[in-house]
Amino acid sequence: MRELVIDLDAVVHNLDVMRSRAGGAMVMGVVKANGYGHGMIEIAKTLESAGVDYLGVADNEEALALREAGITVPVLTWLQHPEDDFKAAVSANIDLGLSSIEQLERVAEAAEALGTRANVHLKVDTGLGRNGAAQIDWHKVFKLAAQLQTNELIDVVGMFTHLSSTSEHDDMAQIGKFEAAVGEARDAGLSPRIRHLTASDGSLSYPDAHYEMVRVGAALYGLDPFSAGRAGEWGLRPVMTAKSSVVQVKRVEAGQGVSYGYLHKTERATTLALVPVGYAEGLPRDATRHVRVLLNNRLYPILARIAMDQFVLDVGDDLVEVGDEVVLFGDPRTGASSVDDFAAACSTINYEIVTRMGGRFKRVYVGGE
Ligand SMILES: *Cc1c(COP(=O)(O)O)cnc(C)c1O
Repeated sequence: MRELVIDLDAVVHNLDVMRSRAGGAMVMGVVKANGYGHGMIEIAKTLESAGVDYLGVADNEEALALREAGITVPVLTWLQHPEDDFKAAVSANIDLGLSSIEQLERVAEAAEALGTRANVHLKVDTGLGRNGAAQIDWHKVFKLAAQLQTNELIDVVGMFTHLSSTSEHDDMAQIGKFEAAVGEARDAGLSPRIRHLTASDGSLSYPDAHYEMVRVGAALYGLDPFSAGRAGEWGLRPVMTAKSSVVQVKRVEAGQGVSYGYLHKTERATTLALVPVGYAEGLPRDATRHVRVLLNNRLYPILARIAMDQFVLDVGDDLVEVGDEVVLFGDPRTGASSVDDFAAACSTINYEIVTRMGGRFKRVYVGGE
């Protein structure tokens, strides 16, 4: 057994928490990367029934999959590829986050071919240095967007940017730059109705920067966006529990080398328990020696090298049977490692842990009725 148990009630609860934090602003639920590893369609349907205002994904391919699944709430994409067929996206009524002249031209072409208008959110780079129009290009981009809007090929409904979360000082500088960009866009004749800037962290830290919408990913999945183990303090509930069960138990003598490279050798006669989760499931190989998993109400470190399909626990003289449940991470109130503990033990952030979980894990959904 290998399961990622996804608590849909916790997702609804977390949406409520973030909605009350957002004040009057709309809430976009971010479901990119297979809903941060939780299953994009199930999470999106749950958020849609719970009244989320928008869904956000990186790619158009993800957005089209949402539409194919019958999801009708507004969807925004922001990572445009040179091979993307914008006609498909525009026909599916997907809002497009655009960062360049070239993207604007291609979207206008698609809208013209379809005899319709594309909903556009202009993305400006205010300091993250990733996508978004660079400041030196703002004028050209806004001018072209205004012209395409006059020609009824696009409707610039929104304008947005993304923070680097480096420091409050850097974030404030970005907010100032965003204000300047919106001013320039208005001077060019645009009137973006939905300005949006904050992700989970900024939505919690900067209530004055919510504008008309906040874009929330991590917090909906119960993850502390600061990876500081404080999700509970924000009132967020964990959504994913990664679990498996013991498939073999055996007694061995002292001095038995365990798994590749013998990182672990038994110090005395002991019991070894085999668990069928490996790096193919997204369990970082480097987690060996650092993470602790829950078995029969006790946390055991994984001492022997994590392999592709399995890891071994040295449980000493504790009584363990085939079929006993092993929780890799989940709700810390159950005694399991939280995803934050697990991430810290792997020298990474909770976002990476939940998105990389996959392989032969099955997602099992609970709640959400
Ligand atoms: C992923 C992403 C978000 C959501 O970020 P969280 O930290 O998970 O809330 C918001 N906006 C953009 C542009 C993103 O790429």
